[in-house]
Amino acid sequence: MQFFKNLFSKPLTSTLTITSSNGFHLRPVAKFVSEAKKFDCDIQAIYHKQAVSAKAVNALLSLGLEKGDHFLIEFKGKDAPQAQEKLTHTFLALMQEDKEVEKNINTTHSYRGKIAKGESIYQGIAIAPLYHYTQKEVYQESDATFQGSVVHAVSILTERYEAHHPSDTADIYLAQKELLLQLSAQAQDIETFSELIETEIQTLKGTTLESKAVDYQDLLRLVKSNLGYSYHTALPSEAFILVADDLLPSDIAQLEKSSVQGVILKQSSLTSHTAILLRASGITSLILPATILDTSEQVILDTYAAVLVSQPLAEDLENAKRVKASYEKEAIQLQAKRFEAAQTQKQKTIHVYANVTDVPSATLAKESGAEGIGLLRTEFLFTKKKPTLERQTKAYADIFSLFDDITVRTLDIGGDKALPYIPLPQEANPFLGIRGVRLFQSHPEILEEQLHAIFLAAKGKAIKIMFPMVSSVEEFTHAKAFALEVAHKYQLQSDAILFGMMIEVPSVLFALEAFDAVVDFYSIGTNDLLQYLFAIERTHPTLKVDTLSPVIFTALSHIVKHVTKPVSICGELAANTEAIPTLIELGYTTLSVTPKSVAQTKETIRHV
Ligand code: PEP
Ligand code: MG
Repeated sequence: MQFFKNLFSKPLTSTLTITSSNGFHLRPVAKFVSEAKKFDCDIQAIYHKQAVSAKAVNALLSLGLEKGDHFLIEFKGKDAPQAQEKLTHTFLALMQEDKEVEKNINTTHSYRGKIAKGESIYQGIAIAPLYHYTQKEVYQESDATFQGSVVHAVSILTERYEAHHPSDTADIYLAQKELLLQLSAQAQDIETFSELIETEIQTLKGTTLESKAVDYQDLLRLVKSNLGYSYHTALPSEAFILVADDLLPSDIAQLEKSSVQGVILKQSSLTSHTAILLRASGITSLILPATILDTSEQVILDTYAAVLVSQPLAEDLENAKRVKASYEKEAIQLQAKRFEAAQTQKQKTIHVYANVTDVPSATLAKESGAEGIGLLRTEFLFTKKKPTLERQTKAYADIFSLFDDITVRTLDIGGDKALPYIPLPQEANPFLGIRGVRLFQSHPEILEEQLHAIFLAAKGKAIKIMFPMVSSVEEFTHAKAFALEVAHKYQLQSDAILFGMMIEVPSVLFALEAFDAVVDFYSIGTNDLLQYLFAIERTHPTLKVDTLSPVIFTALSHIVKHVTKPVSICGELAANTEAIPTLIELGYTTLSVTPKSVAQTKETIRHV
């Protein structure tokens, strides 16, 4: 009887108004839905004659409610009065909460100093003087003579010329060589040669050829490097915000140990390796092309708002400090849940793994709540000196001991990644040249040593070995056969080891059936996949790929539908809070992200 009464009774309704200028977006919707689900009654949201369930995140989001919109909530069933009271309160509180966040964001936008807008690499707020990237010259006793060093420099320039001929770049090397021959003929030693170069640079000052000064400096360094001089990044001991065109991986390692507060890169992109390393180091950083910045000026670098504020007023500094404190409080709350599993609203478990580069970052991954290592980028393990087999083995063994599930990727140098002790040919298009798995053909001895160290460190443990930049089935099968031969040669166990590949070259998308027959697993590198799908170099200073383009989601949808072997995503897209709901909807259940993003990624998943 009660049942029929409820069925035919008039529903209760509330009219709600969106007051936050962010609209009714994912975060408040998810919280609202989780409250609504606690009631048995039927709850509908009605807007412009469209009625959807208020117990489903996607349905509510589909209404596209924006600031100023009014919509109706209808409650029908036994506990309708309680639901109405609770959810009306919840809604008002959510709008209020959202406005608080909005107030913080608005504060950052309302700086009164000089604002330059850029692209945020890693979010944070830094207040410190600017410091321009410089390199310090270090000298180590050497037997080389000035004349011998000139001959050496000439041969390097000849090699560079031949590698690039015919092209504009080749002409530059030819011009540098001529210049070197001409100037060195007038000098007897490095001191007089340096003076000559300095005089040439001074005469270029203020002329249209001023930018050519770098060619002269380059020549001087080329000769000096053979005479025992090397160059190291010089950093201040006081807090500073570094301004650089781009950075080397070794610079970032040095920055981690310094008092750096933030980094501004003039030439980079969000998926460049410099950006990936800055994110992994948790350094507040921004891409800000072509801006003239005064050194030593105290600034605010606010990468939540993606701005650099120069000449800040006292009130700007106060606001920045307040916003920083409020974000830090939020981050602490997030961190508290980092070891808990990440389950969607529909109780689907999504695994969050970490992308690491060395023992410290793998240790950080463990402390950050990662469930395993989805990508060990081995190219950053030893950036300065070629490691011995023992040192490599020790590093791998230390990392392998931290987690049960570990994917180690064989060396992926080339493109924007280089190692000083592995010579690669000068190429006109390095991103389309010798990179990733292609090193198995060009540098087999290096891969043999690396795989030897990996097998020694694994000691029979079921780790996963992954090959980068695979573009054909043959490349994969050759690399796997090579690895097994190494294990056989050194009589090391390989039975438990799984072999997989990165999906990051578009050709793979059209041969998934064939790959599926030979691989054990895949991981998708969306950074390179985007680069190659759009033919836009990931380090390009002006051209930018749309990282949330429907094209990448179509590609990801195609992959997940056509493979039967486990597949994860390890490109930067996996940590993108806007992309995560779609990745889950497509069917991805493992995301691998930088250790610093593990807690945020898990929290985003919990709201899907
Ligand atoms: C990728 O390409 O997305 C990837 C994860 O590999 P890397 O960034 O090291 O090239
Ligand atoms: Mg890649």
